[in-house]
Amino acid sequence: MTVETETILVTGASGQIGSELVPALRKIFGPDKVIASDVAEPALSLKNSGPFERLDVTSREDLARAIKNHRVKAIYHLAAILSATGEKFPQKAWEVNINGLYNVLEASRELGVKQVFCPSSIAVFGPATPRINTPQDTILSPTTIYGVTKVAGEHLCDYYVKKYSLDVRGCRFPGIISNETLPGGGTTDYAVAIFYEAIIHRKYTCFLKPETRLPMMYMPDCLKSIIQLMAADFSRLKHHSNFNVTAMSFSAAELASEIKKHLPDFSIDYRPDFRQAIADSWPESIDDSAAREEWDWQPDYDLARMTADMLRVLEEKRQQGKLVYPG
Ligand code: NAD
Repeated sequence: MTVETETILVTGASGQIGSELVPALRKIFGPDKVIASDVAEPALSLKNSGPFERLDVTSREDLARAIKNHRVKAIYHLAAILSATGEKFPQKAWEVNINGLYNVLEASRELGVKQVFCPSSIAVFGPATPRINTPQDTILSPTTIYGVTKVAGEHLCDYYVKKYSLDVRGCRFPGIISNETLPGGGTTDYAVAIFYEAIIHRKYTCFLKPETRLPMMYMPDCLKSIIQLMAADFSRLKHHSNFNVTAMSFSAAELASEIKKHLPDFSIDYRPDFRQAIADSWPESIDDSAAREEWDWQPDYDLARMTADMLRVLEEKRQQGKLVYPG
């Protein structure tokens, strides 16, 4: 992020990534410089640490008002409907993911916002895409509405870079694993739920098959990638809104056996549901060499390190009576 004097707006700030990105940005730029916004109420800690606005990104007027009121110069646009929820509510997914993004880009163009971050996803890929070490530039033929909106979103963002010289950047995130806020309806949510169930019940029923292998990333690496990409020298970037990024790939069974190294009495069984078909259409592993070449991307966490840290943090929360989990 090169813009330091005016404010940053984070949309979808109450979600899994936003609830940790906002504190990270507030640490760098100052609490008052980062406006958190969402249609949903944020955690109290986020609300108390700086400005928060109720903001629906499908309303261009509300978005424009917030940008003007706060003299916003950069937007981290995280508001979205994710893959599993999107399959239940496809029209809503389109409305939020496409019309919301269009509003963000148009308002940015009209009101002089300098920089926009918009995450994409491995959901842009589909069954026709090579599944192992999926290349940066390859076939994008998703089977989910979420994937359709992410492909269109990438192209829309790149169009604004070329047509209007708007500085828009984004990564194709794999499944994000975190211990602060529960994920919001994605296909990789099992890789978070498994840790809570392991700590609380010592057993977990997985909604994907044991051999299902997907690319993943621990939240500290996700935050690092966003901050590093936004700070990268624009002239070095050949891609803009669609960087493949990854940190690890594992199957559900491999994750379970890594957890068992710490909790030997942990057990898992498998009851695949509609999310299996979504997972089967996604890559097993990702080639992120473009991100490494163009902005020096390098993850810190592999499966073993992430698992140890997740279990340590969640166990500490359990002992302090702070483990919040609906299951
Ligand atoms: P999330 O579902 O946890 O959070 C999304 C937030 O957007 C929610 O707090 C929700 O209330 C808000 N929102 C929904 N509709 C809105 C609207 N109309 N106006 C304003 N806010 C609205 O999602 P997340 O995991 O934090 O994902 C953030 C971004 O990262 C999304 O673009 C998502 O597609 C992308 N991503 C996430 C993952 C992952 O594993 N978490 C992986 C790939 C890409």
